[in-house]
Amino acid sequence: QPETTVSCHHPRTLQQARLEWQQATPVAGDFGDVYFSRDQGPDETRHVFLEQNDLPQRWAGWQQKRAFVVGETGFGTGLNLLVAMQVFLQVAPATARLHWVSTELYPLTPDDLQRAHAFWPALAEYAACLQQCYPLPVSGFHRLQLHPRITLDLLLGDAAENLSQLQASVDAWCLDGFAPGKNPGMWTEQLFAALARSSHANTSFATFTSAGTVKRGLQAAGFVIQKVPGFGRKREMLRGHFAADSADQPASTPADNNPLKWNLPPRPTGRLAIIGAGLAGCATAEALSRRGYQADLLEATQPGADGSGNRQGVLYIKLAVDNTPASRFYLAGLEYSRRWLQRLDPQQHFWSDCGVVQLATDEQEAARQQRFLQRQQLPAALVQPLSAEQVSSLAGTPTTHSGLLFSRAGWVKPGALCHQLANHLPGIRLLTSHPVSQLQFDASQNVWRLQTGDQWLEYDTVILAAAYASRLLEPQQWLPVKRIRGQVTHVTLPDTHNRQPGCVICAGGYVSPPADKTLCFGATFNLHSNATELTHEDQQANLAELHQALPKLLTGLGIDADHLPLQGRVGFRCTSPDYLPLTGPAPQHQQWQEVYRDWHKQGLSATPDSPPLHQGLWLHLGHGSRGLASIPLCSELLVSQMLGEPAPLEQALTEAVHPGRFILRALKRNNNGAA
Ligand code: SAM
Repeated sequence: QPETTVSCHHPRTLQQARLEWQQATPVAGDFGDVYFSRDQGPDETRHVFLEQNDLPQRWAGWQQKRAFVVGETGFGTGLNLLVAMQVFLQVAPATARLHWVSTELYPLTPDDLQRAHAFWPALAEYAACLQQCYPLPVSGFHRLQLHPRITLDLLLGDAAENLSQLQASVDAWCLDGFAPGKNPGMWTEQLFAALARSSHANTSFATFTSAGTVKRGLQAAGFVIQKVPGFGRKREMLRGHFAADSADQPASTPADNNPLKWNLPPRPTGRLAIIGAGLAGCATAEALSRRGYQADLLEATQPGADGSGNRQGVLYIKLAVDNTPASRFYLAGLEYSRRWLQRLDPQQHFWSDCGVVQLATDEQEAARQQRFLQRQQLPAALVQPLSAEQVSSLAGTPTTHSGLLFSRAGWVKPGALCHQLANHLPGIRLLTSHPVSQLQFDASQNVWRLQTGDQWLEYDTVILAAAYASRLLEPQQWLPVKRIRGQVTHVTLPDTHNRQPGCVICAGGYVSPPADKTLCFGATFNLHSNATELTHEDQQANLAELHQALPKLLTGLGIDADHLPLQGRVGFRCTSPDYLPLTGPAPQHQQWQEVYRDWHKQGLSATPDSPPLHQGLWLHLGHGSRGLASIPLCSELLVSQMLGEPAPLEQALTEAVHPGRFILRALKRNNNGAA
C-alpha cells in the first residue's frame, strides 16, 4: 500500500569491514576472500569490468545528454570506480556524464579506505574526491558528487534489498562481491531479479566469477551469458547482456500498478521554467545547471524573498524514535545538504556546521531522546547525547537541560545563498519581478503557457517551486498545503567579539550563533495569521522560549531583554499534513479521483498502467521549517526523475514525498467513512 507508516527495524549503523592486510592486499577476515587481485588490482578491473562491458568504446561514443549508468555490487575500496573515473574522463566526450551506483553491506572505515588507495598513486586524484565525501556507515542511499561529471550513489546495506529499491535504468553491471562459495548470501535470486528490474534492452554485465549458481541465476532472470577467459589465474569469467523478452517480467513496470511507484519514461525537457526563486527553485536550478541544462527562473519579487529569506535558518532535523520513512528521509537530506553546501561554499560564507543541540526541556523529551538513541543506534559522529554541563560548555552559556548533539548540522544564510545561486548559475536566466498569474496547458501545441504581467511565455516543462503560491495556480488548487506564519527576532549585538551560543540550540524554538553582529532567534508558529508586520506579542513569545533554553544568554551578551526594539522578520512556511514535502510529478487531480476511487478495495491491479499526470509539470513545495535539510536532496530527486536518471532515494522514500499520496489517502478515508 502506498501508505508510509511502516518503519524498518534494521539497525541503521552497519558493521564495518574487518580487514586483514597482507602487504598490499586487503583480505576480508569474515569471508576469507580478497578485495582485489593480489598482483594487479587496477588491471583486473580494466579486464573484467571495463573491457568485458565494452565500456571504453561505449563511453567514447556516448553522445546522449543523460548520464551513462553503471551498477555495481560490492563497492569495497572503490577500486572499480576509481579506474572507471580515470578511463571515462580520458575517453568520453567533454559533455558526457557518468553515474555510478554501487552497493556495500560492510563499508570500509575511512582509514582502511585511505590505506588501500595509497597503493595506486595514478588514481590519487580520484581517490581524494571519494575520501572527501565518503559517507558514514549508515544504511540507505548516499548521493555523492565526485566530480562535476561523475556522480556516485553509494547504496549502503544488502545489495539485493537496496537494488530492489533502486529506480534506475542501468546501462552496464559490474558484478563484484566475494566469491559465491564464500558469500552465498549476496548472490541470491532476489539479487538477480533486482538486476533485471533495472535493466533495459542494451544493458550489459560482466562478473569475475563463472560459478554455476551465478550463471543459472542470471539466465533465469533474463540475461544471456557468455563465458570468456578470466584475469590472471582465473580461467573463466562471465559476461553478457539483458534480453528483455526472455525475462519473466518486463523490466521497469511496477508489479502492482502503484501510481506513486511509476517511473516516468524520460521525455525531452525542451524549454524549461522554474517558478519561484526561493531555495527550492534555486537548488533545482543548480541541479539542472550542473548537468548542462538551461532554464528560466521566474520570481515574483527577488530571490529568497519569502520563506527562504531569513538571515539565518537552521539546518536541523528531528528524528522519530523509530526508523520511520520520515526519519530516513530527513537523515538522508541532512547529509546530502551538508555535502551540497560543502561543495558550493567550501569556505562557509553562507553556512556553518557548528552543530545543533536539541534540548530536552522536560522529562518526557529526555525519555524520548533516550529511547531514540537506544532504538536507532546511529554513529556518534551523527548524533550523541550531551549532559547539561556539556551543552553549557558547547553553548558557552549555562543551561539546566541535557540534549542531543547533531554535530554535522548547523545554520545557513538562505536568503544570501538564494541570491548567490540565482545570479551566478551557468545556463540559468533569472527573471525577477515576474509574478506568474496563470498557468495553462495548450494541448494542441503540447506546451505550457504562463502569464506574467501582460506577457505570455511558453515552456515545455514547468517546475512549480513557489511554496504556497503554487497552490494559487489553476491546475494545483487541490494541493493540501498550509501557510504557517513565523516571526524571528533579531538583536543587534553591542560587542561583536561575543560568540555565544557556540552552536545552534533548539528547544521550542531555536537560537543560532551570532552572524554579522546580529543574534537571531525564534520562530513563532501561527496557522491563523497572515499579518506581515512584526508583533510585540510574538517577540515576547520568542524571548520566553529563549529564556527557558538559555536563561543567561542575553545578559551575558550585555543585552537588556526588557528594552529590546521590535526587530526581526516575518516569513511564511508552506507545510503539508504529514510534514513531508511534495516533490515529484504533478498528478491530474480529477482523473486520479476517478481512476483510483476504489483502489484500496480492488487493489491497484484494476487501475491503468500509467497514472494520469500533467505532462511536463512538476511540483516542489511543502518544505516547512526543515527545508534546509529537505530541499537540496529533493531538488536532486526532482531533476533525476525528470531526466530519467537514477533516483537519489529509496523507492519507499520517493513515494513518501510523492504529491499524489494525499489524493490516495483522501480517497481511502472517504471510502472508509462511507462504508
Ligand atoms: N569492487 C571492490 C573494490 O574495488 O574494492 C571489491 C569488492 S570485494 C571483492 C566484495 C565486496 O562485496 C566487499 O566490499 C563486501 O563487503 C561486499 N559485500 C559482501 N556481501 C554483500 C552484500 N550482501 N551486499 C552488498 N555488498 C556485499
